[in-house]
Amino acid sequence: MLRLKSLELTGFKSFGKKAILEFKTPITAIVGPNGSGKSNVAESFRFVLGEQSIKSMRGKKGEDLIFNGSNDTARANRAHVKVTFNNNPRLFNLDFDEVAMERAVHRDAVNEYLLNGSQVRLKDVSELLAYAHIGSSGHHIISQGEADRILNANIRERKAMIEDALGLKVYLYKKQESGKKLEKTRENIESVESLRREIAPHIRFLQKQVEKIEKTLEMKEKLKDLYKEYLKREDVFIKHEKERIRIGKVKPEENLARCEKELHEAKDVLSRSEQRDVKSSAIIDLEEKIKVVRQSREQLARDIGRIEGEIHSLERIIRKQQELASTEENKMVYVRDVEALSRDISLRMDAVVESGDVSILKSVFGTIKELLSGFISRNKTEGAGSGIAETEADIVTLRAQKKDVEEKITGIAEEEKALSEQYHALQEDIEREKDTNRDAEKAVFRIMAEQNEVISELNIYKGQEESLRVVEEDFKRELTEAGVLIGRAVLDFAEYSVLGVDAAVMSVEAIASAPRSEQDERRRVIERIKIRIEDAGGGSGDETLKEFKEATERDAFLAHELEDLGKSATGLEQLIAELDEKIAVEFRLGIEKINTQFQHFFSLMFGGGTAALSFVQEKKRKAKSVFSEDDVDMEVSDDEEGEAEVEEGIDVTVSLPHKKVKGLMMLSGGERALASIALLFAISQVNPPPFIILDETDAALDEANSRKYGDMIESLSKYSQLILITHNRETMSRAGVIYGVTMITGSSKLLSIEFDEAVAVAK
Ligand code: ATP
Repeated sequence: MLRLKSLELTGFKSFGKKAILEFKTPITAIVGPNGSGKSNVAESFRFVLGEQSIKSMRGKKGEDLIFNGSNDTARANRAHVKVTFNNNPRLFNLDFDEVAMERAVHRDAVNEYLLNGSQVRLKDVSELLAYAHIGSSGHHIISQGEADRILNANIRERKAMIEDALGLKVYLYKKQESGKKLEKTRENIESVESLRREIAPHIRFLQKQVEKIEKTLEMKEKLKDLYKEYLKREDVFIKHEKERIRIGKVKPEENLARCEKELHEAKDVLSRSEQRDVKSSAIIDLEEKIKVVRQSREQLARDIGRIEGEIHSLERIIRKQQELASTEENKMVYVRDVEALSRDISLRMDAVVESGDVSILKSVFGTIKELLSGFISRNKTEGAGSGIAETEADIVTLRAQKKDVEEKITGIAEEEKALSEQYHALQEDIEREKDTNRDAEKAVFRIMAEQNEVISELNIYKGQEESLRVVEEDFKRELTEAGVLIGRAVLDFAEYSVLGVDAAVMSVEAIASAPRSEQDERRRVIERIKIRIEDAGGGSGDETLKEFKEATERDAFLAHELEDLGKSATGLEQLIAELDEKIAVEFRLGIEKINTQFQHFFSLMFGGGTAALSFVQEKKRKAKSVFSEDDVDMEVSDDEEGEAEVEEGIDVTVSLPHKKVKGLMMLSGGERALASIALLFAISQVNPPPFIILDETDAALDEANSRKYGDMIESLSKYSQLILITHNRETMSRAGVIYGVTMITGSSKLLSIEFDEAVAVAK
């Protein structure tokens, strides 16, 4: 199986110009004169596979690996090597049929690693190689003069080389990684534990607070029930009492109103008696009026008498006149009539005189004559008897006067009667009033007595109302306090059913009539609990409960995390133990297999003898702080200070045929080389690496051993691709392809050559 495809060197050490080697056969030989750059090719493998020890590539610093320039070639800025593998079937854990690894170092010592063209870290390269059993210890790259390195190494280094060769590196990586993870996990466990330790006192403190709060809540719950019963009873009592007082007051209040009304009336009566004086003066007035009326009536009566007398005498006159008038001579003429006639004649006479006209005299005399005859005839028929009529007229007048007076008398008599009636009525009134006042006075005393009684009755109710008001105020205060202390829940006390001794719901009457001392006792119990709640510390504790909840949740979370971490630590410990077990088992098996092969190759090389690897434990002291450059523990003598440590490793024991001497120290240079090769080949046979590079491992072999070496190489090449740097003709003869390396003007050149050419070049 050809794994190695090609190697490309640019600016690496003596390779100033790009050189490509293709590995198309199981065995490739590289030949060339001394100093031409063959070993540089082997070292380029180490380089590209991530070798960190510059010393192992014969340099002091990274820059030494970069082509330094020659007469006709300029120095390079970087050394670059690319190795290409066939990855079908999968040698590397990469999903590519070909894997190209590249490494370049720059003059500023910066290294670059590429995997199939992508930049990667050294760690990625190392892991990939470990997976493919190409360890960095380079057990499959044997540099010039290093064939016996495995024999020279200490037991621990040797163990590491064998582990590497057996492909256990990958497990060791895993173990190392698990160890790191375990360490990290333990650190996490420690920090989580310390976090829990840190919060534990706070949780304990909160716990106590919460217990207090819970106790308070319990007391509050109890208080709530007590309050409900107390408030319910108090409420019922107050309402019931109010109603009782209200009903009780109705009658007395009515009575009081009635008393007041009656009193008012009585007083009214009494106040009216004050008007008696008014009545007395009225009666006097009336008496006076009656007197006046009576007097005027008497006067009128007298007037009537007089009128009647006059009428009587006039009637007598008339009768006399009527007797006289019955004869003519007795006729009488009224003087006035005579005077009137005389005046008329005189006037007419005067008118004639005044006019001076005597003519008219005749007519005037005629007129006078007529006047006189008229006068005489008139008086003859009528005479002076006409006086009767006048008298009769006077009588009529008098009678009218009499009627008038009589009417007046009637009116006055009526007035007098009315006045006299008024008088009597008033007199009766005054008498009656005298009686009423006496009654009213008596009533005032009676009513006042009753009123006093009613008021004192009402005063009792007032007193009861006053004490009920105090009880009600107390109730309201208690209700507010209960609300603050217990919350709204207490406010629905009205729905609370009070149970009696018989466990039945108590009636309102029963509640209201229960002794007040029982309520007082309930109140005292409530007060005592309130004090206890206050002593336990106020506040609802919501904040504390929340904080406690958060803290315990956090603690639970941490505990859970701790559990997870513990599990993963156990898992890792288990994995490490399993890996240890696996490594130990595989190592033991590997050693057994190697021993079989070692014995085989050894006796083949030496024609007998024995060779074996064995486990050893060496006690050594670790120097305090002294380490070699490669971080290898120094073995120190017992008297030096330091900690005793048991070191495990692999020892090599050999014994040559027909010789009594045993041990590696007793071998000659050639024998050492042969033993080393036997061991190398044994190891490679057990777990064949994809390729092996041997740089002049065959240098010390004589012709006979060279042939044996060639045979072994051929058998090895069935499992691993071989690149052999050699001067040995025998070795060259076994190679499929031979590359010749020459140094031309300070720069190495490569060319594929034929065997004969190679033999010539090698010489
Ligand atoms: P031998 O057969 O004697 O072992 P070789 O063929 O193995 O020789 P190398 O040791 O590979 O030769 O090459 C050594 C040569 O490479 C030396 O001539 C040395 O000057 C040259 N060399 C080493 N490093 C550099 C470098 N950085 N630049 C140029 N040349 C270098």
